[in-house]
Amino acid sequence: MDEQALLERVHTQVANLIGQGAVASYIPALARVDPNQFAFALRRIDGTEAGVGCVDNAFSIQSMSKVFSLSLALQLLGESLWERIGREPSGDPFNSLVQLEHEHGKPRNPFINAGAIAVADRLVSHCADAKQQILEFVSGLLDEPVHYDLEVAASEAAHGSRNAATAHFMRSFGKLDNPVEVVLDVYFHQCALALSCRQMARATAFLCDAGVNPLNGERVLSERQCRRVNALMLTCGTYDVAGEFAFMIGLPCKSGVGGGIIASVPKQMSLCVWSPALGPSGNSMAGTKALELFAAEAGVSVF
Ligand code: GLN
Repeated sequence: MDEQALLERVHTQVANLIGQGAVASYIPALARVDPNQFAFALRRIDGTEAGVGCVDNAFSIQSMSKVFSLSLALQLLGESLWERIGREPSGDPFNSLVQLEHEHGKPRNPFINAGAIAVADRLVSHCADAKQQILEFVSGLLDEPVHYDLEVAASEAAHGSRNAATAHFMRSFGKLDNPVEVVLDVYFHQCALALSCRQMARATAFLCDAGVNPLNGERVLSERQCRRVNALMLTCGTYDVAGEFAFMIGLPCKSGVGGGIIASVPKQMSLCVWSPALGPSGNSMAGTKALELFAAEAGVSVF
């Protein structure tokens, strides 16, 4: 398969969708991003890469970071992580509070905000410096240093009432062990990691290589843990449209309100697409279509 030619065709086919939708405005630093940008990068497990658009532009990875924090927490805590976090799709928007009350502060899954905040709490308890450890974990995946966009982190902290409400609510049920401000500081920073599409495709290569990072041969997750992270991406990675993603794309995906979406094709390749303008569910509009076209034409699916 000539992936480079396929990516170029997909880029042309989604041209009229780039800029359609709206950039996330509830985080002011993201509202300033030019919506007319597009990039799509892939990395095969044999190391070959392809890409179109601005594949080296760093952008705010937002909720895609939840795959990294979950993987790090699984490394450090193993199965005990699941005492605090479920594995069911929520069927609700990523920042919804409604299920938390019925379910006594236990989040449905690690990829909605409540779940990722619970993961951040576990990391705070287990790491001397959770922010630094997340940075080192992602840098280690890439074999190059990564950084937090401090302006984005500060912007989200200043406008993070919904996440603060979520965290306080969980703490009132005894489901967070650490002070809300400390946990949210870690969560806002992980969301503010700035990486390019090319870097994201590399940093998530372990997801399609049975948990081993093909860049350096290091094991990130056990084979079983890796399957499970992929299962959660498929069922929960794109919030209340995870069913539609499975139906239309058929790959484990994780999106972020910065406009990025990662996808893994187990045993074949990792993908990252980015275009900042979002549809109503908080997923990139051009990015979603591009993944759908790519998966259909390349004939890749987990089903
Ligand atoms: N930092 C964002 C938030 O907490 C992440 C949401 C997302 O990317 N879906 O609202």
